[in-house]
This record gives sequence, C-alpha cells and structure tokens, in this order.
Amino acid sequence: MKSPILPVLGLLLVSSVVWADEPAELRAGFAAADITPELNEDRPVWLAGYGAGRRATGVHDPLMARTVVLSDGTKRIGLVSVDLIGLQFPSVQRIRQAVPELDYVLVASTHNHEGPDVIGIWGPTLLKRGVDEGYLELVERRVVETLKQAAERLEPVQASFGAAVDEALLNDSRPPLVKDGVLRVVRLDTTEGRVAGLIVVWNCHPEALGSRNTLLTADFPATTIERLAARHNCPVVYFSGALGGLMAPPREGVTDAGGRQLEEGQFEYAERYGHLVADLADRALQNARPLELTPLHVAALPVMIPVANPYYRAARSFGVLLRESFLWTGDFSRRGERVRLDTADQMTAVETEVACLRLGRLHVAAIPGEIYPELVYGKYQEPVDPGADFPDAPLEPPVSRIMPSGEWLLLGLANDEIGYIIPLRQWDQRPPFTYQRISAPYGEINSCSSDVAPIIMQALQRAVKQLPALAGP
Ligand SMILES: [Zn+2]
Repeated sequence: MKSPILPVLGLLLVSSVVWADEPAELRAGFAAADITPELNEDRPVWLAGYGAGRRATGVHDPLMARTVVLSDGTKRIGLVSVDLIGLQFPSVQRIRQAVPELDYVLVASTHNHEGPDVIGIWGPTLLKRGVDEGYLELVERRVVETLKQAAERLEPVQASFGAAVDEALLNDSRPPLVKDGVLRVVRLDTTEGRVAGLIVVWNCHPEALGSRNTLLTADFPATTIERLAARHNCPVVYFSGALGGLMAPPREGVTDAGGRQLEEGQFEYAERYGHLVADLADRALQNARPLELTPLHVAALPVMIPVANPYYRAARSFGVLLRESFLWTGDFSRRGERVRLDTADQMTAVETEVACLRLGRLHVAAIPGEIYPELVYGKYQEPVDPGADFPDAPLEPPVSRIMPSGEWLLLGLANDEIGYIIPLRQWDQRPPFTYQRISAPYGEINSCSSDVAPIIMQALQRAVKQLPALAGP
C-alpha cells in the first residue's frame, strides 16, 4: 500500500536533485525480448502501415523490444524501442504502472510497416479493427520484463555522443525538400573499455519492404542493429527520429556487391540499406566525444490533441479506433470531459504526452508522432506557397532552437503515435493547392488536425523550461 505522504517525499527528492545538479556515477543496463506474434489459422495477424487487409503469411525475422535503463544513483529511467507501427499512449501508461520502481519509462516505436496492427485501422477491411488485444497484452508484458531485466543489469558506464550526416540515404516525397539526414548515437563504455551498448537514432520510415510483402520483419533496422551489434559486440537500441514529410529509404544508391540497383520490396534492398545506415552510425561513433549523462531529469507534460480528421472520427464511431476521447477545451493543457454518445459530434481530443529529458548534458525530445524535419531545423518554405491554407500562420520554433545545446536526440513516436506533425504554414487541405497541385498533398489524411504542430512545439518549449538549466560551458 502507498501512504499519501510518499508523493510529497518524492517531490522533495526531485527538487534536492535539481538543486545539487552534480554529475553522479552513470550506470546502464540493457535487455531485449522477442515480440513476434504467433501465426495460426484462426488468429490472423493484420500488417500495419499501408492499406487494410494485408494478412501476415510468415516470419522473416523477429520483432523485438529493446531496452536500456539508465541510473544516476538516485533516479532510474527506462528507454524502450519496439518494432511496431506505433504503440499507443494507453499501452505505455499500463507499462509504467507495472514498473513503479522506475522513475520514468519511455516506449517509442520504430514505426515498422511490416509488423502487426497495434492501432486499429489496418484490419481485414476498413470497417474492422485490426488489433489482436491479446497480442497487445503480450507486448506490454514483454516490455515490462525487459525493463526489469535491464534494471537488474546496471553497471557503471561512461557515455560518448556523436553524429554523422548523409542526406543521400533518404527520400523526401513532399515538397519543400527538407530532410533530417543526421544520425545521432550514444555509446556507453564500461570501465574496462568494453562497449556496454549503443543508442542509435536515425530518421527513416522502416518501409524498405513495401506494401506487397506479407512476411513479418523489423525491416531495415533489423540489419542495422545486427551489423552494429556484431561489430561492437554489444546490444543496440535503435530509435526512429523525425519521420514526417515523408522520410523513406532512397530510390537510388542502394546496390548489391556487383553494383546492381536494388529496389523497394526486396529483402536484399532492406538488408543493404540497413547496412548503409550501420556504416553511417559507425561514422557517428568515430566522431563521438565523451558527454556527461548525469544527473537524470525528466519533464513530461500531458497534452490534449484535438481530432478534426474525419477519417479518424469515423474510425472511432465504427469501433476501429478504441482510444478514449475527451471534449476539446481549446487549451491543450486542460483535459475536457469524457466523450459520450450524445457529445460525440463535438470537437474531441485524445490525451498524449510531450516530454524532454535532460540526461546530464544531453537533452532528449520525446515527440509522440511523426514530426516533419521542417519543424526540427526551421527550414520552412520561404516565401510561403500561395496555395497553403494558413499562409499567415506564425512559424513554430524548431526543435534545434528549443534545445538548450547542440547535444540532443529527438525520439519520434515516443510514448504514442498521433500521426503527422505538419508545420501549420504547410497545411494544405483546401484548394488552391500548394506547388500547383490539382489535389491535396499526402500527409494531412494521417494527421489529427492542423493544430498539432503548434501544440507539440509549445509543449516541448514548456517541458524544456521545467528542466534545470545547463550550467557551465
Ligand atoms: Zn508514417
């Protein structure tokens, strides 16, 4: 049982850590678990990411949950990556409840397009939910196991942080052409000089296998991880960063040993692309410099996101999306009443979370969806295209400017998948369309509403302000 005084004590502990803000001994532990769903005749697995009705027919390589737990002696934080399309916030909340011994848990999805539906909209038909609730429970259970195991394996480590750039490894399908070609990596070394593990963040849709594949696979990150794990003899936790806009594997430049061009949909293409990403990670590791990762601080804000998207609203009324809805109050920090049958026609909202972690001198932005790289680097279309729906909208402050220093990671689909996060000035649903298109561009159809980007960026700013400021050079 919990005494009511405990939360108060917790707060006091937190503030004492904030006051001290002294580096402490960093410890890290890694763990992983297989989360591949079982395939059998009477329980179909519906693959997520393209159209509805794509039934899995076999397994090419396992889907995994990969976890690192970090400790500064006072606090413990778990960071988990799952090979899924987008684990939803309610699942993350259940996982957190099952590991109260950890101070914070972040679960991010790689956004794998070759794994089971965990959201609902990729069932046998558009009108049928594609999620096997039993599978969801299994994922949550396995993630909890990895967190507990990793927490038991904590050992003293020293951290290095590095980055390397290669925009040629990405395709951007929506103008303006703005890519996030920066791969960021954290290496954790034991005191004996062994690599304890790697944290890798790269910004590309895991969709090298395309829409016709029906074998379960973690897509290209599987081979990125495999290669790095073999080279460095250590566990690897791979995260997807800024995926919006839409960052995907390139159409050209991925070739076999004989120089023959490989194409989307081939396992050889996914494998080769995964290896190219691993090579970029190695370049980032060559540039890595020691970085203090303690003390650990977390600022996590509950955020309401208004859902104007008519497809999402229809999917909810058909029971394809089961997520709880609240009435939109007009203020993202204020949760409205639960939506009832008689209020379902009003503007509704879903609850999510925006967080910023300060791990010593490293900031980690936890963004609950697919953020456009424009919002990461502030590379907005200038002048604004006259076809845009909100040409006078203020420009959102980009992540790179919100982060207090140059040492940061951006984890996309962190704790949730709310869809695309599109700069408001780029929002384009009404004619005339941008870039002289004759129809609306792809993107808005997978976004909750045009308010998403301004809300997420404001919430991130608030989260950073709640963290103790960086001291010294
Ligand atoms: Zn996507």
